[in-house]
Amino acid sequence: MGYSYDRNNIFAKILRGEIPNETVLETEHSLAFEDVNPQAPVHVLVIPKGAYVSLDHFTQDASDAEIVDYNRTIGEVCKLTGVQPSLGGSGFRAIANTGADGVQEVPHLHVHIIGGRVLGRMLNKA
Ligand code: 5GP
Repeated sequence: MGYSYDRNNIFAKILRGEIPNETVLETEHSLAFEDVNPQAPVHVLVIPKGAYVSLDHFTQDASDAEIVDYNRTIGEVCKLTGVQPSLGGSGFRAIANTGADGVQEVPHLHVHIIGGRVLGRMLNKA
């Protein structure tokens, strides 16, 4: 089964400028913006501009240029938000929820960069 991209998902609408966002950084292939419902003092979403459903879709089908741009954008967001340990920050968590088990709500790849407080253990015990 291939990937089926829903062009009406909320992040597609943000990319088309139909819904406003608080942009942190925009590059040729990527956009980083504040999560509307932040779970911590720092909560930024980083998305590719291309129509990719998930991290596995992106890392398999995106061009090298998109993949480099996306990863560099994530790195830049870590700097800009002050969470980067090598610059005096206290660290962060990068999360890409995927599919049903990952409880992905929006079917356009997004990496959450979350920090600014101690985040606790990675997963609750099932
Ligand atoms: P997921 O559960 O898919 O990994 O995360 C989706 C994230 O998108 C949630 O953290 C949610 O708060 C955020 N979100 C949903 N709708 C909007 C929106 O319209 N604008 C912004 N900035 N974030 C949104």
